[in-house]
Amino acid sequence: MKRITATPLLLLLLCVSSAFAAGTPEKPPVFRVVIDAGHGGQDAGAGRQGLLEKELSLKLAQKVKALGKNSPVEVIMTRSGDEFVSLQDRSKLALEHEAALFLSIHINQSEQPETSGIEIFVSSENARATQSRMFAEGLSRTLQAGESEIPVQGTKEANYLVLKNTTCPAALLEVGYLSNPGDRQNLQNDAFLDHLAGLIWESILGYLEN
Ligand SMILES: [Zn+2]
Repeated sequence: MKRITATPLLLLLLCVSSAFAAGTPEKPPVFRVVIDAGHGGQDAGAGRQGLLEKELSLKLAQKVKALGKNSPVEVIMTRSGDEFVSLQDRSKLALEHEAALFLSIHINQSEQPETSGIEIFVSSENARATQSRMFAEGLSRTLQAGESEIPVQGTKEANYLVLKNTTCPAALLEVGYLSNPGDRQNLQNDAFLDHLAGLIWESILGYLEN
């Protein structure tokens, strides 16, 4: 797994954060990021051979959230269990928390078992479309550099509601195909998900620094 290096800005943020901890009891986070585990509850999303998108997306989202612990970035989850959350409520959460970034995590499936790959989607109808694309392209580059098991297909355009309705920069990540045997095998591997979560976190920090 690639190590996340502490950059001067991050070190500064950490100092600011400990200063808050020493002085005031309620320290505001420097940034808030919404991590959206796709689907949930009666909406299972994709499913193959007992693997459900709603479970895998939550597992990966929780790994990303865990990386935000003790950092000046507060990670807000749209769901933390197997519950149904409407697309509107997911976007609303980002607005309510004045989030700097919204990332939705999904797993794909296809009729063609050979279809494989990680894809990132942004919407030109998002109010912060330029920033959304900037984050997505950084995420794509980081995944391309650090991920060799599932091919990274780059950034694509899609007017998903969750991207259009979210008022902060937003991207949707599809981390492979449950219908592809290779992707499926990787997605069942906890170490692979840890590695992926690390790369996602690295991309989030990279974006927030700019
Ligand atoms: Zn999905």
